[in-house]
Amino acid sequence: MERGELLYEGKAKQIFATDNPNLVQMYYKDEATAFDGTKKGIIKDKGVVNNRVSCLLYQLLARNGVPTHLVEQLDERNVLVKKMKMIPVEVVVRNIIAGNLAKRLGMEEGSPLNSPIIELYYKDDDLHDPMINEYHIRAMGWANDSEIEEIKKKGLQVNDLLCQFFDSIGIILVDFKLEFGIVDGQVLLGDEISPDSCRLWDKVSLEKLDKDRFRRNLGQEEEAYQEVARRIEGALG
Ligand code: ADP
Ligand code: UDP
Repeated sequence: MERGELLYEGKAKQIFATDNPNLVQMYYKDEATAFDGTKKGIIKDKGVVNNRVSCLLYQLLARNGVPTHLVEQLDERNVLVKKMKMIPVEVVVRNIIAGNLAKRLGMEEGSPLNSPIIELYYKDDDLHDPMINEYHIRAMGWANDSEIEEIKKKGLQVNDLLCQFFDSIGIILVDFKLEFGIVDGQVLLGDEISPDSCRLWDKVSLEKLDKDRFRRNLGQEEEAYQEVARRIEGALG
């Protein structure tokens, strides 16, 4: 598989064409950003951890009836995925109050929710990813009714599967972000699931093992990412 031209450079990954028009190669960088790209830094080997973690979790999801864009991990930082038309929406699923939800509702971080919450945001850094709802998605033509239903169903299914899995490795899945795309008329999970896109707390110490270490200047980002990779590799690798 020949790597072709750079199609897109994002904050955390680069996307390259391949000799198969239906597939693209994603390259995971160590660059870390927060607050819509205004805070920048490097987390050593973040790209290696996120690629590996995401591949292992996507394999777990596929085995449990949630197909994803994953084709195969190529090497430490590269993965081959199905090229999709991305729905420009960030789907956030929450189990525990944290981050933006805590701030918005004036509630304490760490309080459990009675049931999971799905939130939708329009993916646009310049606009600071404004919150939207299903009506916006339908009205803008980003997805139709059945695709929206599919997104919500898959969001909750992924949440159930990952809550159970993370619990088994001593981690609380507080919240996370998913991105979906459409290929061959099917809604598929795309992008990544990693410590960059999830809040992961150690079940015993409640220590943060995710990007909040970077966002909040808590230090030891590299160690936290490695610890997540180590536990997931131990269970699934
Ligand atoms: P960002 O664009 O937010 O800076 P990244 O640096 O992670 O994020 O870039 C990855 C980009 O690739 C994102 O815009 C994401 O929506 C897109 N993407 C993820 N999976 C696929 C896929 N299977 N096909 C096409 N694009 C994808
Ligand atoms: N998230 C993400 N990308 C974004 C925004 C959020 O991956 O652009 C993830 C974030 O890591 C957390 C969850 O989505 O796990 C909920 O984030 P929140 O809405 O609390 O926003 P933030 O903490 O980024 O202000």
